[in-house]
Amino acid sequence: MRIGIGYDIHKLASGRKLVLGGITIPYEKGLLGHSDADAVLHAVCDALLGAAALGDIGEHFPDTDPEYKDIKSSKLLSEVNGLIRSGGYLISNVDIIVLAQEPKMAPFKKKMAGEIARILGIKAGQVSVKAKTNEGLGAIGEKKAIAAYAAALLERKGE
Ligand code: MG
Repeated sequence: MRIGIGYDIHKLASGRKLVLGGITIPYEKGLLGHSDADAVLHAVCDALLGAAALGDIGEHFPDTDPEYKDIKSSKLLSEVNGLIRSGGYLISNVDIIVLAQEPKMAPFKKKMAGEIARILGIKAGQVSVKAKTNEGLGAIGEKKAIAAYAAALLERKGE
């Protein structure tokens, strides 16, 4: 078995859609980035790549490459899933923490977990999405950013 950890943070900005965990969440701002800036899926990508020692999301999908401009992060996660699978790994589980002062994440946690499981081709019960505010502290607490942590466990096929 192999474990990986991932982290990501993006700034909140006006005039952007808020996409987190592969779903669109109604809010007055969205995350700023080269792609759709889905911090949750980016953290999951890095956790999976880390577990397989396959580098990081920036190496695979450089934000200087116009090919990835405004790309859906679900597509990036799907590509990472392909790399993991062709490396001979199965995903045991993925555990995620979303850090957002606003909007409330509770109504969306299940849907995010379901969407991530769908992209990865695993069961909804293998993905956990937890959410916290940052207790008003720092950039996240001041609603200037949203961050996410993810951990992933992989197993080698046939072991
Ligand atoms: Mg990112």
